[in-house]
Amino acid sequence: MTALLLKNAHIVDGTASERSDRVNVLIENSIVRDMGKAVSSASANVIDVAGRTLMPGLHDCHVHVTAVVASLGANAKLPDSLVMARSIAVMRDMLHRGFTTVRDVGGADFGLKQAASEGLFPAPRLVISGKALSQTGGHCDFRGRYDDTPAPRTRIPLGSLGRVCDGVPDVRRAAREEVKAGADFIKIMANGGCASPTDPIHFNGFSREELNAVVEEAQNASTYVSAHLYTDEAISRCVEAGVRSLEHCNLIKSETAKLAAERGCIAVPTLVTYDRLASEGASLGVPPNAIAKVEDVRSAGMESLEIMEDAELLMAYGSDLLGEMHRHQSEEFVIRGRILPAHKVISAATSVAAKLLGMEGLIGTIAPGAFADLVVVDGNPLSNLSLLTQQGAHISLIMQGGKVIKNITPR
Ligand SMILES: [Zn+2]
Repeated sequence: MTALLLKNAHIVDGTASERSDRVNVLIENSIVRDMGKAVSSASANVIDVAGRTLMPGLHDCHVHVTAVVASLGANAKLPDSLVMARSIAVMRDMLHRGFTTVRDVGGADFGLKQAASEGLFPAPRLVISGKALSQTGGHCDFRGRYDDTPAPRTRIPLGSLGRVCDGVPDVRRAAREEVKAGADFIKIMANGGCASPTDPIHFNGFSREELNAVVEEAQNASTYVSAHLYTDEAISRCVEAGVRSLEHCNLIKSETAKLAAERGCIAVPTLVTYDRLASEGASLGVPPNAIAKVEDVRSAGMESLEIMEDAELLMAYGSDLLGEMHRHQSEEFVIRGRILPAHKVISAATSVAAKLLGMEGLIGTIAPGAFADLVVVDGNPLSNLSLLTQQGAHISLIMQGGKVIKNITPR
């Protein structure tokens, strides 16, 4: 048995607005065994955290690790080998920013998840939807106006974030195929999107019958549906159908936010991606019609945080960055911190994320029985959220499942 004692740590997990008093945390194998002021061990290796901040590993609940270029239409045409190789670098960089678990909401397949869990390369724990479901002309249909070739039903490229399905039987089959292929939950595109060519933001995706069907399929597989959403109308029809994870939500209104909170939904805002698409997207090859649509949702995003907070709708951390823009993953902390208290921003990436992922007690917390997924931050992120940015420059220790990924002496 390997044991490790982290001494003299102030804990920040997002549940309190102040750091904890100094405590010691004992890790045995891959699990937190004990913690407290008097916890010690004669046999454990010791790391003196020396008053730095110890946090649970961070979680990003909206990523696309296989989005290796900014233009999603182009991404879907890349060879699987190139997408796989580049996604390894995307995941490595996420882990080095302190994200020890990420939820992929369209693209990553079970092979990638299995390879990551076998430890073949450094990567966050992956929770995956497989391919997102999109109706014809929806947010994962990149064929364009003049392309009437049939959408593939099998052998969908790794670089494609989703697949097209239409009608209740077809939607059910697609959901079942994704579950069979190893999806942890089902992702649907239930509203127009920025990156896709023929669906204005205000289009609703899927009929109510299709939404009800996909929710039933997810429930049959003991899981839930996550939906890509912007407009208040699209969000409310998904909440009514039983969708649990509400992505983006930039144009949500108060009544819908309250209804969503009552139904136990969790929202996943992704404000950083609209900032970056607006400033960098064009130079990275995102088509002009996609850039034009970004402005429809970008400016409303900040207001949506206040609306959801007032409605007591839980919000998990999401970034939704594509290709070269992945490096901005941690800036969502700073953007949300302009509106919300720092501990609530942090809880989005810890306890709320764990609740959304159905992994409460295992991740997002430092407590006996939890995975030893931990990061040490030089300074106090409760007073300065930007300590979590800059590619992990202020994160001196990263541990995943008890394995030390990074351990440097702070400057
Ligand atoms: Zn997305």
